[in-house]
Amino acid sequence: MSVWDEVVGQESAVSMLSTSATRAEAMTHAWLLTGPPGSGRSVAARAFAAALQCEQGGCGSCHACTTALAGTHPDVTLLATDKVVITIDEVRDLVGTAARTPTLGRWRVIIVEDADRMAERTTNLLLKSIEEPPPHTVWVLCAPSVQDVLPTIRSRCRAVVLRVPPADAVADLLVRRDGVDPAVALTAARAAQSHVGMARRLARDAGARERRSAVLDVARRIRGVGDAVLAAGELVDVAKAEAAAATEERDAAEKAELLRALGVADGETLPPKLRSQVKQLEEGQKRRATRRQRDVLDRAMLDLLSLYRDVLVVQLGADVDPVNTEHAGIVRDLARDSTPEQTIRRMDAIAVARQRLDGNVAPLLACEAMTIALRPQG
Ligand SMILES: [Zn+2]
Repeated sequence: MSVWDEVVGQESAVSMLSTSATRAEAMTHAWLLTGPPGSGRSVAARAFAAALQCEQGGCGSCHACTTALAGTHPDVTLLATDKVVITIDEVRDLVGTAARTPTLGRWRVIIVEDADRMAERTTNLLLKSIEEPPPHTVWVLCAPSVQDVLPTIRSRCRAVVLRVPPADAVADLLVRRDGVDPAVALTAARAAQSHVGMARRLARDAGARERRSAVLDVARRIRGVGDAVLAAGELVDVAKAEAAAATEERDAAEKAELLRALGVADGETLPPKLRSQVKQLEEGQKRRATRRQRDVLDRAMLDLLSLYRDVLVVQLGADVDPVNTEHAGIVRDLARDSTPEQTIRRMDAIAVARQRLDGNVAPLLACEAMTIALRPQG
């Protein structure tokens, strides 16, 4: 057993991080962990933190290891955000924490999960702490790619690049850790395109599999402009519902906690002078739901993209594993009824829709333009 067990398909990154963790003299105080979504950046960052705290360099079973992995080690601080930007106050707190000597462990480790979500002014604050770090402090910044962080930051960090893990390595983790049936695990790992969290959800949650199938079925159902507009509306509604389901419970808990902190009893009318604080919280929650909705829609678009990629593979007779093994029927029909050029145009339309979504175009508009471009062309 070791803290690296769940960092799958990342041999070179693991070897670099585990070697550094056990040789204090070779330690770097600032790391930049990059890799595409689902490659396991935050899992790798926590494993590294555990390896740093463990007397045996990451045994995976001692108290230091288990608490660091679980996020409860007092000397491991993790900043994860659902927000679009990390605020300057959050970073100021982190810099303050970074200056303190570790209480129990050998190092004080600060992990920032979405270092790409920092405004330049915020980054500058962080920069000072990274440039002259206290001797026992290690910063671990995570981002999708090196280009996503400012040059001033990346030039001061040691870079570790995670790759998209192979589907069979992800499937193996699901079997080993979650007890998933091997065949189901491989299908899920392929469908999730090796996104570890997504693969796990697909393997264990029938609802998630159904939602994904419904998205892929859009490709078959669209015959004309009317169907396209309807399908776009459905995609947006499903994303809204999924985002709401994921955030509702947490929103309510956060609000209850705030009211408690403000000294307002359950069911009591809110005094006017406290209203602005509650309103601020609610606005933040609304932004988070919007972000989540966009993420869910983007995932749906990626799923559709993977379907047309399979169609193109069939049309070109390429010797590549399909992503959507459970939807071979749709793939076959689409491959028969269209040309490779049309498939490429459809893939382009999906890529454009993703860009528009990222550029804050209204989700329904982005989806409609996409589904209209997906309909059969004579
Ligand atoms: Zn240990």
